[in-house]
Amino acid sequence: MPKKEKQPNICPVCGSKMSPALITHTQPWGNESFEFRNVPALVCSCGEVWLSAEVTDRMDEIIKSKAKPKEYHKIPVFSFSEFAL
Ligand SMILES: [Zn+2]
Repeated sequence: MPKKEKQPNICPVCGSKMSPALITHTQPWGNESFEFRNVPALVCSCGEVWLSAEVTDRMDEIIKSKAKPKEYHKIPVFSFSEFAL
């Protein structure tokens, strides 16, 4: 049995209290990425987001299972190196 990890009550970045929220998370997968909505997470006002291993493992399982996505949206992709600063 994997040890249940401890949820951080305090933000490791700024020390404020973290609060539970449902977020939109982009999970990288090889060269692709998959968007998940309504993902349970802990968030801080500084922008820090914490996801449990349980949640990230489940997202990997969902991707591997080739479950039917709710919807698709196209994302424009740029190669930054092709543009001058
Ligand atoms: Zn913070």
